Amino acid sequence: MIVSTDASDDVIENCAMPHGDPAAAVRAVDRLLGARRPDPSSAADLVRLARIYGTEPFTPLSEAARVLGADRERLTGLVALFREIPQLRRAAENGPAGKYWHNTVLPLERSGRLDAVVTSTPAFPSSVGFYPGPTCMFRCHFCVRVTGARYDPADLVPGNEMFASVIDELPTDNPHLAYLSGGLEPLTNPGVGDLVARAGARGFALTTYTNAFALTDQTLARQPGLWDLHAVRTSLYGLDDAEYEATTGKKNAFSRVRDNLKRFQRLRAERESPVRLGLSYLVLPGRSGRLVELAALIAELNEAAPARPLDFLNVREDYSSRPDGALPPAERAELQDTLLAFDERIAQVAPTLDVDYGYALESVRMGVDARLLRIVPETMRPGAHPQVSVQIDLRGDVYLYREAGFPDLPGATRYIAGTVGPRTSLHDVVERFVTSGSVVTPVAGDENLMDGFDQAVTARLNQIETDLADGWGAARGFLR
Ligand code: SF4
Repeated sequence: MIVSTDASDDVIENCAMPHGDPAAAVRAVDRLLGARRPDPSSAADLVRLARIYGTEPFTPLSEAARVLGADRERLTGLVALFREIPQLRRAAENGPAGKYWHNTVLPLERSGRLDAVVTSTPAFPSSVGFYPGPTCMFRCHFCVRVTGARYDPADLVPGNEMFASVIDELPTDNPHLAYLSGGLEPLTNPGVGDLVARAGARGFALTTYTNAFALTDQTLARQPGLWDLHAVRTSLYGLDDAEYEATTGKKNAFSRVRDNLKRFQRLRAERESPVRLGLSYLVLPGRSGRLVELAALIAELNEAAPARPLDFLNVREDYSSRPDGALPPAERAELQDTLLAFDERIAQVAPTLDVDYGYALESVRMGVDARLLRIVPETMRPGAHPQVSVQIDLRGDVYLYREAGFPDLPGATRYIAGTVGPRTSLHDVVERFVTSGSVVTPVAGDENLMDGFDQAVTARLNQIETDLADGWGAARGFLR
């Protein structure tokens, strides 16, 4: 490991940023290499690698070699050297696309699950989504859900028994292994509190994704197990009743969600409950200017319980591949200023709020107009990645992608890896799917069944396989 505590470390660590100084970084890296410098242009090429992988993390090594004009032996040596210099690693990890490294790629590399996928080795998934909701009270215009489709109420009792059995088989080495989401709305399942309590008793810190329409006093009184949640992550669909109605089709829904959240704020403060509360906000076309109102809502929610302010906020672009989901160019051009103004406002009204802008918006915030990563049917993986993540619905069906677990969704049943039941565990389903070599041939539209996480995982796996096929061996994937 080549380590220094020189002031020039900052110059290196910022070299992939738009405001970075690559020339100064090259000089600093050259000094750092000293006698270990393989050749006169090594420092310049190491900085170029930091800039390539800090911006385009899924670049195959053969492409990086082509850009650098390096042969295989030289690039292999540079990758090995790069991995030894923490300042350069940080430069790539903190670059405009750094969220991919931090949030997804490096944790999965450490878990060994990416290697399990590329070697077709069964492994318990490192992320398990429970989709317990039998229905949803909203009809969001961007949601892939089929209007009117819902689970049979008769599925509830056996479904909750099935979820309980999966909770009991989860390995306990990762408290954040499982989460509740949908599919449909988790809080429409009257047994979800018991499932949370059961998971909590085994040491799992469950987060639920919810629209919070049913996060009422009555729900909390009927389902006290909900207080064992680690976090409640509320998806917001607008910032006033009219916006909510336009997005969800439901009247007065914003007022109800806002009031529910305020009450929840007060209740968790009174109970001194550690449950975290956060918001998830999708920047829909035409609505980026509304971030000012989002800051106002956060301030209002914090006033309800000043000693327990909101814990986190996730701001995202629409990851669905719908053509009308992307922000128009003019709005995108203003987005960096909009996000920086929002940052300033949040620093004033909610200084402890943990704000996460996700893969693409973080790049925009740094001044790089990064497009959302787009996997298309041709780049989808027929074997998917069940060792990385799976999602289970009320019927026990195990879905390979996060947006596939909706009842009656056309084509989605092709992405069921198997079904958990009285004699079939989740472990069995994944093992059988992987060892049998099962595949799904993607067709147009299937990419809509993937969320941003699925797309990032797919891009990484494709990159690893390309690198291995090109003979890069241990250098594959650049950073691990
Ligand atoms: S996006 Fe969520 S809240 Fe909206 S309709 Fe779909 S499941 Fe319901």
